[in-house]
Amino acid sequence: MPEPVEKILKKKTLQKDEIITLLKLRPPDNSILLTKALDVKTKTIGRKVYFRGLIEFSNRCSKNCYYCGIRSHNTRYRRYQLTDQEVIKAAQYAYTNHFASLIIQSGENSSQKFISTIERLLREISQMTNRALHITLSLGEQTEESYQRWYEAGAHRYLLRIETSNPGLYKKLHPANKMHDYTQRLEALKTLRKVGYQVGTGVMIGLPFQTIEDLADDLLFFREIDIDMIGMGPYIEHEETPLFQYRNQLLSLQERFEISLNMVAVLRIMMRNINIAATTAMQTIDPHGHERALLAGANVMMPNLTPIKYKQSYLLYNDKPGLADDAEESKELMGESIRLAGDTIGYGEWGHSKHYAIRTGARR
Ligand code: SF4
Repeated sequence: MPEPVEKILKKKTLQKDEIITLLKLRPPDNSILLTKALDVKTKTIGRKVYFRGLIEFSNRCSKNCYYCGIRSHNTRYRRYQLTDQEVIKAAQYAYTNHFASLIIQSGENSSQKFISTIERLLREISQMTNRALHITLSLGEQTEESYQRWYEAGAHRYLLRIETSNPGLYKKLHPANKMHDYTQRLEALKTLRKVGYQVGTGVMIGLPFQTIEDLADDLLFFREIDIDMIGMGPYIEHEETPLFQYRNQLLSLQERFEISLNMVAVLRIMMRNINIAATTAMQTIDPHGHERALLAGANVMMPNLTPIKYKQSYLLYNDKPGLADDAEESKELMGESIRLAGDTIGYGEWGHSKHYAIRTGARR
């Protein structure tokens, strides 16, 4: 006989079997979980949501992850990289709209030219905004030296998604070579922490071959590595990827969405003061996905500042929403989700993960 959910939710530290029980809840039975997560969010970090202006800097990628639309073997997309002026313009928009934070994301590129370009842009943005804009990078696995150079140039947060904490499943999602090595990715997360970054990771939820035990392990993994920020959401297939062949084995999109909501809620209860993003993948499945993620415990959103002409070429998965929205529309739509959730926007605040602030003594 499984333990009653009410009893599990009163525990200070959740064990794997308890996490599994919570993840298996479905509407309307999961309302008790969602209510608890919202209560934890309200009491621990408050009802403020922080904007990170998202710049999809380039879709050039040297890797070939089996689930990703912009993998290098996909020849459908025109490959692009934003000009310096386009990046500066987007950063200026974030700054003047009091976002206080920016995230620069790109396919993986370790060329010296790329490393130097990012370094130069970081310095320019820092100078232009008098270091008022906090910058997150999501540029994949790089050497410690590159991480260090970017840190010194002004980036202090880094998002590197592990995608799954199960090494066996990781192998099924990636080509078998050194470039796509699970251990190396783990090492990269450790290196980021060593350099001093506020570190984020994340997983996909509802992958082929993935079990509910895997997802419980993902949450335990986040706790074990003492992560500061999380961006996770439902896996959505892309027809031009090798993993698409397993689409008939997937849970329905709705089920993937419900489990994702539960994942956000359970994580909020387990790691009360970290930052959790309401991801675009949630909104792709449910028109109220952002809002529902916020009500399940998320507290970060990423209005997309990428120029519209590039957005069609940065499709990691099918049916990504907002492709025709400019920065202003993206900001308005996300603002509306925040209002509907009953939260407020933390304009002008960096919105550090409280977890990070406590462990390092950083100003919030
Ligand atoms: S998931 Fe990232 S590293 Fe993998 S192919 Fe896509 S952009 Fe490249």
